[in-house]
Amino acid sequence: MSDFDVIIVGGGPAGLAAALYTARMELKTVVIDRGPLGGQLLNTELIEDYPGFESILGSGLAMKMGDHARKFGVEIRDFEPVKEIDADGNQKVVRLESGDELRAPALILAAGGLPRYLEVAGEKEFWGRGVSYCAVCDGAFFRNQELAVVGGGDAAVEEGDFLTRYASKVYILHRRSELRAQPILVERARKNPKIEFVFDAKVKEIVGDAKVQRIVYDQRGEQKELAVGGVFIFIGFVPNSSLLKVHVDHDDAGYIITDRNMRTSAEGIWAVGDVRSQLTKQIATAVGDGTTAAVAASGYVTALKDAART
Ligand code: NAP
Repeated sequence: MSDFDVIIVGGGPAGLAAALYTARMELKTVVIDRGPLGGQLLNTELIEDYPGFESILGSGLAMKMGDHARKFGVEIRDFEPVKEIDADGNQKVVRLESGDELRAPALILAAGGLPRYLEVAGEKEFWGRGVSYCAVCDGAFFRNQELAVVGGGDAAVEEGDFLTRYASKVYILHRRSELRAQPILVERARKNPKIEFVFDAKVKEIVGDAKVQRIVYDQRGEQKELAVGGVFIFIGFVPNSSLLKVHVDHDDAGYIITDRNMRTSAEGIWAVGDVRSQLTKQIATAVGDGTTAAVAASGYVTALKDAART
């Protein structure tokens, strides 16, 4: 027996957009989130790149998206960590840490992921006050300032290059002397006069008062620092795909692979937003993913109901 037509795991923009659409299509929908609704919106102070909202607080947009979904009858179970997601025949089974179990034929995984943290003093304290994990979201707040980027992979080099649109100078601090990033990205960054690589730099601390003032690092045993207005950390992202006990195809970094309708390799399971392998992690693309998955899941549930009637 199903409790719902669709279970959506994750209450960020992707999950809430999916919920809005499935509920409007008269599917009995629940959204489960381990914390408050909003996902990464809650880690962004100001949002200025979501069409229609010139400038809105991340928490404000999260509230609006949650209220909008509730208006159409979506059941919201926030502060309910999911333990695992399994399948039983064509039922998807979501087991919660609380011991509850929910069942539905369709499941949309919108569980996002988390940036990998540096875990140094000042990182948490200055998050949103100079420490950022998203250049596209926050770069424009640092016009004409000197910035530090931490990391040596594709993201650090590409986002460092992107940040020079705004910053007067970008230092890319990498813990080794060799970059992991693709040569084509490194070559472009090396040609950029605003970028300076700082190798063998192990970040020790991010220091400031009301906002970030400097970054302290160890370089071959010597303690050094740079005066910067912001620190952008790109040392990897960990998608929350391990909740799935059912096998779904994923890439080497754990991002779930979908078709153009957000369908995973497991029947009745869709993946949307930051947990999915795709070009960019933006609110607008997350909302688009959620919408596509909702329409696809609705077709799937309706076909199952029609088949059960005949
Ligand atoms: P990544 O390739 O895993 O690189 C992470 C970088 O952070 C590495 O240089 C690593 O150093 C460093 N690092 C890890 N933990 C650290 C720590 N605790 N302290 C300091 N440094 C640390 O991650 P990514 O750059 O986010 O890329 C993730 C995936 O997305 C990759 O597959 C990448 O190819 C892809 N991506 C592609 C593009 C593109 O094609 N344009 C753009 C962005 C991302 P070490 O090198 O010493 O291990």
